Amino acid sequence: MTTRIDYGAIINEIFEAVKNEENTGEVAQYIPELSGVDPEKFGVYLTTLYGKGFGTGDWETRFSIQSISKVLSLSLAYSILGDKIWERVGVEPSGTPFNSLIQLETDNGIPRNPLINGGALVICDMLISELKDAPIDFLAFVRKLSGNPDLEYSAGIARSEKSVGYRNIALCNFIKSYGNIRNEPDKVLDFYFNMCSLEMNCRELTQTFMYLVDTHHVTSNSATLLSMSQTKRLNALMQTCGFYDESGEFSFKVGLPGKSGVGGGIVAIHPENYCIAVWSPKLNLKGNSYRGMKFLELFTTRTELSIF
Ligand code: GLU
Repeated sequence: MTTRIDYGAIINEIFEAVKNEENTGEVAQYIPELSGVDPEKFGVYLTTLYGKGFGTGDWETRFSIQSISKVLSLSLAYSILGDKIWERVGVEPSGTPFNSLIQLETDNGIPRNPLINGGALVICDMLISELKDAPIDFLAFVRKLSGNPDLEYSAGIARSEKSVGYRNIALCNFIKSYGNIRNEPDKVLDFYFNMCSLEMNCRELTQTFMYLVDTHHVTSNSATLLSMSQTKRLNALMQTCGFYDESGEFSFKVGLPGKSGVGGGIVAIHPENYCIAVWSPKLNLKGNSYRGMKFLELFTTRTELSIF
């Protein structure tokens, strides 16, 4: 089915169409270092199951992947702890913004899912308990997963976010008050800010996420990261929770599991078929890339390749 699709031509055609439209929204302002990113940057890259790649625009420029990293930390925690992780974090869409505190009080400090900030902080806490040095070991894990030893955190972005991270500091302390953060909040937050500051370009993102496309994916050290059932669950979580309170909208318009970040990146998976990443820093009101959403909606409509 897929061999007949000319991905390169379709990507170029949609890229031009979206580029010629008005680029609305705003670059994330609440992290000072992110607010200076060129709002007109726009890149796309697709990698197929068989390793063919198609890119256009600024796909070679690295950007801050921010919350996209939450899928990677979740995958590592899931591979180490298995289904035990669901005792401390839920699997329901929250319907609230990414940094909301509101449900934690009624939910006794158990975040609704691991892809919102509260849930990601709990996952970071689990990894700190399990790993020798979480920031170093997590980076090593991502490098191995992507087959790319050059991937790095951005110290500048991590520092910048920490300097204004009042919301995440509040979230971490609040969850700690329920006993669902076991390590020192400072340590958890430092790891979280580092993790969010990871930088990749669109191609690197697609290469890193191939483990969710290929259910028999083997990482560069020849170990299968997740079982088929775990891979299914992670894709299901991205489908239902990957876009905060716009997850329904993304599912409705694009029809793929995916995850966004406030750096303007979106990665989306078509299981057993392809991984696609789009980067455009201007965000809509829900914190998702305006052009990224638009591009992917047109892409799955034009190719008729969504999971539905
Ligand atoms: N580091 C960001 C924060 O915690 C991530 C948010 C996102 O990308 O959605 O606010």
